[in-house]
Amino acid sequence: MGLIVQKYGGTSVGDIDRIRNVARRVARTYDAGDKVVVVLSAMSGTTDRLIAMAEEACERPDKREMDVLLATGEQTTVALLAMILKCMGYQATSLLGFQAEVVTDCSCGAARILNIGASRIRRLLDDGQIVIVAGFQGSDAEGNITTLGRGGSDTSAVAIAAALKADTCEIYTDVDGVYTTDPNICKKARKLSRVSYDEMLEMASLGAKVLQIRSVEFAKKYNVPVHVRSSFKDEEGTMVMQEDADMERLVVSGVTCNKNEARITLKGVPDRPGIAFRILNPIAEAGILVDMIIQNTRSGNITDFTFTVPKTDIRDALEISKKVAEEIGAEEVMADPNIAKVSVIGVGMKNHSGVASKMFAAMCEENINMIMISTSEIRISCIIEEKYTELAVRALHTTFGLDRPEEKLS
Ligand code: ADP
Ligand code: ASP
Ligand code: MG
Repeated sequence: MGLIVQKYGGTSVGDIDRIRNVARRVARTYDAGDKVVVVLSAMSGTTDRLIAMAEEACERPDKREMDVLLATGEQTTVALLAMILKCMGYQATSLLGFQAEVVTDCSCGAARILNIGASRIRRLLDDGQIVIVAGFQGSDAEGNITTLGRGGSDTSAVAIAAALKADTCEIYTDVDGVYTTDPNICKKARKLSRVSYDEMLEMASLGAKVLQIRSVEFAKKYNVPVHVRSSFKDEEGTMVMQEDADMERLVVSGVTCNKNEARITLKGVPDRPGIAFRILNPIAEAGILVDMIIQNTRSGNITDFTFTVPKTDIRDALEISKKVAEEIGAEEVMADPNIAKVSVIGVGMKNHSGVASKMFAAMCEENINMIMISTSEIRISCIIEEKYTELAVRALHTTFGLDRPEEKLS
């Protein structure tokens, strides 16, 4: 008898018929003799609708109350699935994050899981029950409800699998695995049968939202095998696992894009020691994550300073930057939300030269201007105008030989 954690995403629980489909899959696993813990997302669109409602209610909704509100999405789906399973004759119990003892820090909206007690989950499993846990939520030491950031149910599932030492964590979603790039953008994307934790980590952090980054970090740290697969088909999906000797080692193994960043530029900044600190320290103190940073040299000890932040933080970042600009005597501040980051990723890049120039040639061929560029040992990213995102992804996918071979017509 094994222990399996199954997580179903928003599309997979999008309406009552789909929740019934989930119930049938869960029942099948249970009937095969395994213990099952199910982790659910809210119905697709629900979290966005709740955020929109809060923004209609007030301009800057209180963060604690926002988490109380957002957690209701997952509360709905766990209750519905438990009801359906009970009607089918199974013993099932739904638990909210705090009831499953998911303890987090207190950073509302982006809380990190510190510990999962899981004693109640274990008791229920030992009783022969199917346990259904609300994803995306936990509670802090004071008992306040917290949420884990968008896509956080993946992290709930992997963390619960780690705490229970489950045999596997299955992530059921609306695609049938992890692909070389988003299959909804590039029809020629190829499904990977296996992908290493490290490459998945890089893909997730650069925009492949099929898994939340934190979930891959947990999986790697606690060595949880993760199986990403479709909730609508039975075929095997992609195993996310420890790198092994016969995994494909391509120079570039994936292409990603991220439209969730915005760019801020301070023009005409005096070029002297301490300026980067003066600009970025207040941003960090406001809890805003800065991704790319670029500083140009101009004549006469004057420079332009550009950085990117999450789109959701653009208003706060702009306000702070305007204040700093006045203090340091910068000429003006500009914000541009219409950007995207496209990246090519591959561990094989470490030992190959010429990857960057190949990427730049592909962008040049499509006449796409690169606004910012950054590189690491295993990836190259550039910021472009948002409207060219899909074009850039497809061009890079082809350039680096990732396209699926044409299917032969017989
Ligand atoms: P869920 O609601 O099940 O959590 P998400 O929408 O969060 O699903 O994640 C699945 C989506 O991730 C897919 O529909 C796909 O558009 C997107 N995606 C982005 N990059 C990739 C990739 N490399 N492989 C597979 N899917 C990807
Ligand atoms: N419902 C949350 C979201 O939409 C969490 C999740 O689906 O994983 O981001
Ligand atoms: Mg998701």
